[in-house]
Amino acid sequence: LRESDKIGRVARNAGAGGEGRTPAAPVLVLAGTAEATALARRLHASGRDVVSSLAGITSNPTDRPGRVRRGGFGGVDGLISYLVSHGIAAVVDATHPFAAVMPFHAQSACAAAGVPLCRLLREPWRPGDGDEWIDVDGLDAAAAAIERIGARRVLLATGRQSLAPFATCERQWFLARSIEAVADPPANMTTIQDRGPYTVEAERALIAAHEIDTLVTKNAGGEATAAKLAAARDAGVRVVMVRRPSQPPGVYTVTTVGEAQRWVEAVLTRRS
Ligand code: NAP
Repeated sequence: LRESDKIGRVARNAGAGGEGRTPAAPVLVLAGTAEATALARRLHASGRDVVSSLAGITSNPTDRPGRVRRGGFGGVDGLISYLVSHGIAAVVDATHPFAAVMPFHAQSACAAAGVPLCRLLREPWRPGDGDEWIDVDGLDAAAAAIERIGARRVLLATGRQSLAPFATCERQWFLARSIEAVADPPANMTTIQDRGPYTVEAERALIAAHEIDTLVTKNAGGEATAAKLAAARDAGVRVVMVRRPSQPPGVYTVTTVGEAQRWVEAVLTRRS
């Protein structure tokens, strides 16, 4: 038997006894975003058994109610085993829009284990009047774009894991902002540590104090980090906007925490 066949059999047998609703019916939330935290709070408040899964890369993650597990599952097979052995009733993939691997693992594992999956993916940012955005695919393209447009003083808001493609830029100075400290920053960068939330006034002041002419950011979407875009617009700072990576096709997707909660309730109600 292939691993997925074995698991499929286990999953079907688990529900074949006619016992009806599993008492706990735990819901797994793949976390790493403010939406994941908000969803865990809502599900817990409505009496659901929620398990939040964190990748374990942030040293001081936001507190949330319910159960919390940390670290990778060990690929698709590891996630299949976890879903089955913990009797997970539904999965909400609320990982970050730039998490490029986990959504694909979630799709494969949930399909193999027969567990319903919903992707919670907030809307991307869209340019408004007065915005001058250069959309690029990936960080290497962003580094090429800042060379091409003659940027000199760049606010790099892409996170500490995303600095390497810019380390070889010889004509730019970077102010690199990240939630976690950067252990050994490249020579062309000054780093600052900040997890927000950010205000437009503070972002405007940062841009002015460092004479920033270009902002590089991932199109994360959401309110928490949007202030830099308004400040860039006010200051006439160009924005190099990294487009989101692709998502697995065919996964039911919602954009708000409320919709995700309603999806969970519908799935659990169908099971009972
Ligand atoms: P990724 O490339 O999609 O995933 C890499 C590996 O990390 C996965 O294969 C998985 O390991 C593990 N992983 C990811 N999310 C996990 C979760 N919620 N629970 C348990 N394991 C998880 O993800 P990433 O870009 O490295 O991001 C890691 C985490 O940081 C995610 O939770 C994401 O939501 C959050 N985050 C990412 C960004 C970003 O820009 N990428 C920004 C803010 C927050 P196994 O294969 O061993 O299961």
